[in-house]
Amino acid sequence: MGMTEERGEKAEEGLERILGNSILLTKLDAIIDWGRKYSFFLYPFVTACCGMEFMSLAGPRYDLDRFGSALPRFSPRQADLLMVVGTISHKQAPILVKIYNQMTEPKWVFSFGVCTTSGGFYDNYATVLGIDTLIPVDVYVPGCPPRPEMVIDGLLLLQKKVMREKWSDWPRGPAPVTKK
Ligand code: SF4
Repeated sequence: MGMTEERGEKAEEGLERILGNSILLTKLDAIIDWGRKYSFFLYPFVTACCGMEFMSLAGPRYDLDRFGSALPRFSPRQADLLMVVGTISHKQAPILVKIYNQMTEPKWVFSFGVCTTSGGFYDNYATVLGIDTLIPVDVYVPGCPPRPEMVIDGLLLLQKKVMREKWSDWPRGPAPVTKK
């Protein structure tokens, strides 16, 4: 071991003795992502029967506050988690894209239920066969409707994804408005 390394180690030991457990060192990325994962601001875009299960999820029994995502916002400009709940028709598609584009970055999209994810059993001329044909999606939760536990599992997955992300992943930029 060189003299410089030895001095470095001694200095570290000295600091540890003086500061003890009174400070916590972390990386800026990690602390910001940790804060983000516990402070989602939801914008629910609810169009169909999955909305009933969404209401149950938002109630006290499942307590979304535990995951820092209980507060729905009434403007997409104040939200960073777009919760798309229910069947999306082609007529609604430009509105969904506009809402996504109005949200602040970084932002995430949650596909709630099989209709949102793939059109479900509405394989017809009027239905969007998956919102990922319109906007980027971060988490897909299947089910018709999904049980609240499945949605909570999806939220936990999203939290893990947020922790893996880097600042350089943002901004993603606007999603294009697609016409049928
Ligand atoms: S997935 Fe099922 S419950 Fe949800 S919107 Fe579609 S039909 Fe309704």
